[in-house]
Amino acid sequence: MIPLSDQSWQHQSWQESLSSSLLKVEDLLAYLELDLPPSQWLEKPDFPLFVPRPYLSRIEKGNAKDPLLLQVLPLTSELHDSQEFSKDPLNESSFTPRKGLLHKYRGRVLIIASGTCAINCRYCFRRHFPYQEQQPDRNAWEAIFDYIARQPSISEVILSGGDPLTLNDTRLSWIASELAKIPHISRLRVHSRLPIVIPQRISPSLLDWIEATPLQIVMVIHCNHPNELDEQVALYLQKLRHAGVSLLNQSVLLAGINDSAEVIISLSEKLFEMDVLPYYLHMLDKVSGASHFEVSSNAARKIYQQVIAGLPGYLVPKLVMDRPGTGSKTLILP
Ligand code: SF4
Repeated sequence: MIPLSDQSWQHQSWQESLSSSLLKVEDLLAYLELDLPPSQWLEKPDFPLFVPRPYLSRIEKGNAKDPLLLQVLPLTSELHDSQEFSKDPLNESSFTPRKGLLHKYRGRVLIIASGTCAINCRYCFRRHFPYQEQQPDRNAWEAIFDYIARQPSISEVILSGGDPLTLNDTRLSWIASELAKIPHISRLRVHSRLPIVIPQRISPSLLDWIEATPLQIVMVIHCNHPNELDEQVALYLQKLRHAGVSLLNQSVLLAGINDSAEVIISLSEKLFEMDVLPYYLHMLDKVSGASHFEVSSNAARKIYQQVIAGLPGYLVPKLVMDRPGTGSKTLILP
């Protein structure tokens, strides 16, 4: 492991960045020069700490309220949920016609392509997801392609996870080429936080298969705060744009992190400077361990009214929530 004081991580490959990620809260606090009492954080949480160096470098030292730190730091508040919070808040286990495949909405399906992430976000609604049971092996992939081929109403496939860009490019290229053989599939949408947390993931081999596939590629990056967007992120997002990728962003509205109109407006402006369109602003899914991030509907509406007043319409993300059993996301009106 590279010592925390060493800056050579800047020249690492994305795989090296992943394998040198921080795993211990003590190391994180020591590096950030934070002296938080042990009663405030969890030493060995069920959902462990995982922070790669490029993301770590954007956290302000000495600031216990840093909005990037709060997304990754396991606090003891995670132990104090109300009853509404559950392990499967979207009831995803009811929508899996094949191992690793979720078919919730008409016209598109979602594949849990990888059970691995490049960062562990404390608010994640899949933090308790049974990836071991759902991650497709070779046979399961064939069953997934067969299911999609038999459903002509499906035109878009979504790769999700975990983070699908933790798969290597040989695997991703194979998935794209198998999907491209199905005549009714025209789009491949990739949901990934890797362009934010380790921008070097936008490697030449990734761009090669993206440029080669006949499918339209849409990438939804998951960015919650403008401080997550630095020059490196901008540089690599431009590479995706040059490869013809349509870039969208979705955020989660999180108490203490981005629950103000100023932050959401600044995020939208900065995203657009980087050729990314704001897409969704999600209400928190009520997953166990995340209740301290909840923003009430009333507070969210007030923030959203100010966001609408402060931005041109094309930069306003849709404020939505997921309701299990409905055929689409539910729009929240101001
Ligand atoms: S990267 Fe996405 S799937 Fe992984 S922990 Fe974060 S929010 Fe969850």
